[in-house]
Order: sequence, then C-alpha cells, then structure tokens
Amino acid sequence: MSKPRIALGALLFEGNTLSPVITERTDFASKYLASGEEIPAKLASTNTEIGGALEIFRGADVEIVPLIATHGGAGGRVSGKCYRAFRDELLERLRSASKVDGVYLALHGAFIAEGIDDAEGEILAAAREIVGGDVPIAVSCDLHGHITPAMTRHAQILIGYREYPHDDTHETGARAATLLLRTIRGQIRPVSRFRRAPMILPAQRQRTKGDGPMREIIDLARARETDGSVLAASYFCVQPWLDLPGVGVTAVAVADGDAAVADRVAEEMVQLHWRKRREFLVPTETPVDAIRKGRALTGGPVILADAADCVGGGASGDSAVVLRALLEHAPDQSAAIHIVDPHAVTRAREVGTGGRFRARLGNRVAAGAGAPVEAEVVVERVEPKASFRYSGGLMGGVEASIGDAAVLAIGPIKVLCASLSSYEYADEPFQALGIDARRMKFLVVKNPMNYQQAYAGAPAMFVLDTPGPTTCNLAAVAWRRLDRPCFPMEDGFEPVFAAG
Ligand SMILES: [Zn+2]
Repeated sequence: MSKPRIALGALLFEGNTLSPVITERTDFASKYLASGEEIPAKLASTNTEIGGALEIFRGADVEIVPLIATHGGAGGRVSGKCYRAFRDELLERLRSASKVDGVYLALHGAFIAEGIDDAEGEILAAAREIVGGDVPIAVSCDLHGHITPAMTRHAQILIGYREYPHDDTHETGARAATLLLRTIRGQIRPVSRFRRAPMILPAQRQRTKGDGPMREIIDLARARETDGSVLAASYFCVQPWLDLPGVGVTAVAVADGDAAVADRVAEEMVQLHWRKRREFLVPTETPVDAIRKGRALTGGPVILADAADCVGGGASGDSAVVLRALLEHAPDQSAAIHIVDPHAVTRAREVGTGGRFRARLGNRVAAGAGAPVEAEVVVERVEPKASFRYSGGLMGGVEASIGDAAVLAIGPIKVLCASLSSYEYADEPFQALGIDARRMKFLVVKNPMNYQQAYAGAPAMFVLDTPGPTTCNLAAVAWRRLDRPCFPMEDGFEPVFAAG
C-alpha cells in the first residue's frame, strides 16, 4: 500500500469544577502549545505522548499530518472562546488534510469548558464525522480521565497511562501509535468498551509503583493483555473533583474484533477496583498536629502535603493556610512553600532584593479556601520570567514558565512566590529559585502523589486536611450534579456498573 498518512494532535487539560477560576490560553501557552509543523520541532524529544508517538511513526514509513498539541495543566473550566479556538483549529487542520488513514489524539478525558462537560466526546464525534466511519482513531488519556460513552463510541482504540506518578506519557503515546499502525496495516480490528463504577477516590493511595491498592488492578490488566484476551486494558481512577453526571472510576478494554470480550474484561477490572475501594481512603492530619509531630522528629524534610491546593488537580496553588500554621507553630524552623501570588511578586520587584515590605500573601482566588497571611518579609531574590525544565512526569523535558517570581523570607521560612501556577512534579521550581527544598525541616508540597516519589526517604509525610478545590476529604464536598449513590459519600449499596 502507499505510505499511510496519520493525523496527530494533543489537546490536554484536567478540569476541576470546584475551582472558580476560568482557564485561558495563556495557561496552555505557559506549558506547551504548538501548531502544525511546530509540533515535531517542539515535542519530539520530550516525555509527552506526542514525543512517544512521533518516535514510532518515524520508525515506520508514515506521513505525519500534525494538527495542534497543547497541555493546559489543570484548573477551573476553560473559557468558551479558548476551547472553541483549539477545537476549531484541530478540526480545521484535520478537514483540510483531506484523506488520512488514521488519527492519533492525546487527550486527557477530563477537559471541561464553559458550557461543555465532555470536550473529548465532542471533539471525537466531530473528528469521526470528518474522517468517516472506517478510519481508525486512537486516543490516549490520563489515568485521571473522565471516560464517557461518546469517547469509546468514536475511538476504536482508547488507552490510558499505566503509571501514577505519570512517568509513562512517552510510552503511552508509543503504545497508542503502535496499535494504530497495526490497525492501518490490517493486522488487528480494535474495538473499545468501558465500564464505570459508582465511586470517586482520593489520589494519595493511587500510586502504581509499590504494593498499594492499585497493585492487583494493574496485575489484572497486564494479565489480560499478556494472555491474549485483549489488546489493551486500562484503569481510569478519574479526576475526583468533577461535579458532573456520569463521573466514576472506569475501566476500558480494547479487544481484537470482539466487543463482548472487551466488555467482559472491562467489567472484571472495574469490579475489582470497586471491591478494593475502601483501601484508597487516606488518613489526614490537621496542619497543627502534623507540625507538632514533625518537630518531634529528627531531621527533614518533614513533608506537609497541602493536597487541597494541588495545581496538578486544578487548584490555584495560592493557599497560605499551611504557611499560617508554620508561622504560628514553627516560626523558628526552616521551611519552604510555593505560593502563586502575582501581587506579592510585583511588590517584591518594586522593593528589590534585600528590601522589606509588609506582604499579604496568598488566598486571593477561591472563596472558603483560607485567608491571606500578613507578614513582614525580606526580598531574598527576584527572578523576572522564571522558568524551569521538568525532570520527569507528563511534562518531562518541557520548559515551563512561572512568570516573574520572587523568594520572600519570613525568618527561616522561604516563600517562593510565582506569578503563574505550575504543575508540580518534583522540586524544579524551588531549584530554579535557588532554594534547596531537601535541606528544610518542613517542606510544603502541593500535590497528592508525586512528592511520595520526589522525596522518598523523608522522615515523615503528612497528608493535611486543608480547604481547597482538590481536597482529599471527598465526603465533605457539597456535590450537586454527581450521580448518587456514590462511594465514599455512600457505601453499603448495590453498585450498578454503567457500560458503554
Ligand atoms: Zn493524572
């Protein structure tokens, strides 16, 4: 056959309906945003899905039709204008490409925009209409994707990341690309089916390495792939801060030609996830108790996980709740915390390095997520247009911007103030601003998972029960649209496993 033409694109964003912040194009541009021919140049050597897919396609005799590729991180709904611009550009490029033999799209699964609860479903339906019924569409999603019936209806191949922390984005893109190539060559006839359990789970115990509750679920998925039952079996723990109908932990299986087999494997997987649901609940501490326990320990860094302010899950990264607790209960101890606060950065730039001012730090965005902290600060460093390169994870190799930034000292406590929020993988932003996070007595992290790997060996890691859009206390959220009953808000009911 003649050289296959494959369209390729990425439109990734993890929505959080508990955040009041509207996400804009600048939030995508500060991570990665490329169109058409820019895509290979910008992403080929990164850990992204596109990087992985390009590697496979370049090793095959394939003509690539690059669409658009971007990741907006996580946050409140994307503005309607921004979403439509991305959607329309992606679809227009696909339309003007005329005939393609296959499509690969790296999506998240939980992309929501103003007035749109299922952006991926909408985009896949439109892409299907453009390419026609027979052209294979392969999709990869984040392990926290919200997988909907529209997605498996329009994509013959739907797979997810296997790892959390998400260190396998490159490999995921490569796997999707390989399945797509095999389909184009007529070697397989993939069909995807999904099953959903009526539950949402906090993220802290979803670690895929080690022997946590994910172990058995992962082993089952790999067993069904290696015993030949299915081409791919994926577990989607789902972004839990999505107050939408149809949200729940989902399994997707891709079978070769037999939808009934895909359905059976997806059901087997989601049933196991359901049986293990209580193992995912996480014990928490108040900030005051965690600081008291941490003080009694030798060495550091004692990790204080303010997971309710997780930028990677859609919070603003601007909470000063744990800073307040440190100032009240450990003002004599070294500590580091990252707070998004463009106003404080502007003041620091005016005052200059070595200057002092009375700052009002953090908590400007989400109502009910704590109050700003007032303190006398010393400006230790000002860094215009600060940026760093991710050392791993889903943006490994990508250069990200946090805008103008400053280090403010309150005694031995260092506050990294940034103008833009950033997904937190390890300690790259601290390093970029000259803070050695590992040498602190207390280190505040704002993610539910990646710190467990980044600071392995720390004397203690406390998950804090703090207010914010990415709380791990899911039962305390005032859900309005989520289907009920739903674990962990309810338990002891007979579950119905939705199919699609
Ligand atoms: Zn994720």
